[in-house]
Amino acid sequence: MKLSRYNFLRQYDDATIFFNATTCALAVVDENFLRVFDDVKNNSYDEKNYDAQLIADMKSSGCLIEDDVDELERLEFYRNLAKYDVTNFGLTIAPTLDCNFRCKYCFETHPKGKMTSETQAALVKFVESRLERAKNFSVTWYGGEPLLAKEIVYSLSKKFLELCEKFSVEYDAFIVTNASLLDDADVELFKRYKINGAQITIDGPKEIHDSRRRSVSGKSTFDKLIDRANLLLNNGLSVIVRINIDKENIAHVDELLDTLAERIDKREELKIDFGQVSPFTDICKSIEGDCYDHEQFADIMIPLYEKALAHGFEMNKMAVYPSPRVNFCCADYANSFVVDSHGEIYRCWNHVQDLASSCGNVNDGDEITLEKNYLSWIQWNPIKHPKCRECFCLPICIGGCPHLARTSDDGQPVCGTVKYNLEKVIEYYYDNLKGELAD
Ligand code: SF4
Ligand code: SF4
Ligand code: SF4
Repeated sequence: MKLSRYNFLRQYDDATIFFNATTCALAVVDENFLRVFDDVKNNSYDEKNYDAQLIADMKSSGCLIEDDVDELERLEFYRNLAKYDVTNFGLTIAPTLDCNFRCKYCFETHPKGKMTSETQAALVKFVESRLERAKNFSVTWYGGEPLLAKEIVYSLSKKFLELCEKFSVEYDAFIVTNASLLDDADVELFKRYKINGAQITIDGPKEIHDSRRRSVSGKSTFDKLIDRANLLLNNGLSVIVRINIDKENIAHVDELLDTLAERIDKREELKIDFGQVSPFTDICKSIEGDCYDHEQFADIMIPLYEKALAHGFEMNKMAVYPSPRVNFCCADYANSFVVDSHGEIYRCWNHVQDLASSCGNVNDGDEITLEKNYLSWIQWNPIKHPKCRECFCLPICIGGCPHLARTSDDGQPVCGTVKYNLEKVIEYYYDNLKGELAD
């Protein structure tokens, strides 16, 4: 038996806290635990000397592992298993790149036009060819503003559902929308077409939000978005309010949370998500000076989520608690794609409109090989990088955003917030879960 390389032990107040980054188990441990821990470290472990339940718990928490297990190899195995799993199929679809907003940090241009009927038919064929081997199919609608092309969203959804029925595949969908065009009829259609939740971005109190997320016509959108969030929540759909944070709006978060707490009908069901604004492309380079880097954002994350909880947004209780992950995002799964309104297929949301990054086009039909660009994305692997191999955070960070790693100046993975605030996060949850942890 040996100790995991991902164990973390710290003394907080009078308690010794244990955390393991592979399982994300967190516990207050006693002298019996520490005795086993020390015995393993000193090569004097003898299983018959300890309580059997304690040893079972130490194994299931990830603390103790068999001598012949190489944790990096094991992580890579599970990473590959998930990455190449063709039973899960995911698509992010932009039925239009046009948008009726002009947000200051948007990384897209907004050409007019929607997905043509030919491209829709080609996309349905692409989906059909992938569903033969799938068990689950997830769609995220985004854009531009997807509800500018709502008829396409619903018509494609109908076809996807029919195909899922034909192949006995589970289907679910989600929409990232500015919500300005959402009406009562959409709520019924969301339910019919299994669009189970929506992410709506509100960036500050009315004046701040309207200055950052202005509509093309310059009209205020703030009140309408709150109204639309209520419409969805009151109809049993899930809603994430995304608040994109940078140096310009951080001072206004309390005011926004006050307003949301007052005006959202079911605040205990609303999830708040604080996003880090990043200048991903040249189009949004002008906002670079207002952005926090990962280290700075790590410092403000806990206080932000504390504020959300203090305002009664209970869904955020575990928002900053780390989770084990073997892949970072959709770009890190072989059977997950982003498709734009022209049928171009990409790996990453941020590459839409960048034709040089396209892996193919659904209109190529049987000719789609996906080899162009696709293989280099798929073969990207943080475990190849010494800094990630040595890193305690690997099982919860898994190398961070692959797009950032591929475009970083030194070609190295870019450490996410977890690298900078893990200890604070553990301390925070220890303080909050004290009673439950000690039981
Ligand atoms: S609503 Fe979304 S797509 Fe439209 S301008 Fe804002 S960030 Fe860009
Ligand atoms: S690679 Fe990064 S930017 Fe692209 S979809 Fe994944 S997390 Fe987003
Ligand atoms: S990117 Fe940084 S934090 Fe993430 S696993 Fe690699 S070294 Fe660790």
